[in-house]
Amino acid sequence: MAARNPLNRTLADGIRRVGFRKWYERELLSSHAHMALALISAVAMMASFEAYRGASTGEKLLNTAFVLVSAAIALWSMRRYLYLLMHAEEMANQANCPQCEAYGLLTLQDPQDRRESAQRLVPVCCKRCGFRWNLEDG
Ligand SMILES: [Zn+2]
Repeated sequence: MAARNPLNRTLADGIRRVGFRKWYERELLSSHAHMALALISAVAMMASFEAYRGASTGEKLLNTAFVLVSAAIALWSMRRYLYLLMHAEEMANQANCPQCEAYGLLTLQDPQDRRESAQRLVPVCCKRCGFRWNLEDG
């Protein structure tokens, strides 16, 4: 699926620096910003279609370029919006402590071995009861 963007922290980095809840909040904000961008570029695409009426050949070529560019931006930002949203939700579904059910109160643990980081497991520890488990950062 979509690659990581340098503007969005990885889950492990996010938990380490700002905590899970803030990370989650920022991922949601970022995903909704992409949705807004998708809407704006869809409007720009429709406006470019509108401009075909009574346009000269040169203008029509330019309009085609505008349509293609805004369609590309709309598709990219829509994909990004969905990816960020689904990923944040997937992580939030695993953020309840299995033992005391506290939500999002977790600290990052060092991986036990290399296989864990290869499988994208993020080891965490509950701040309330100290229970340890792994988040699957798929
Ligand atoms: Zn707990």
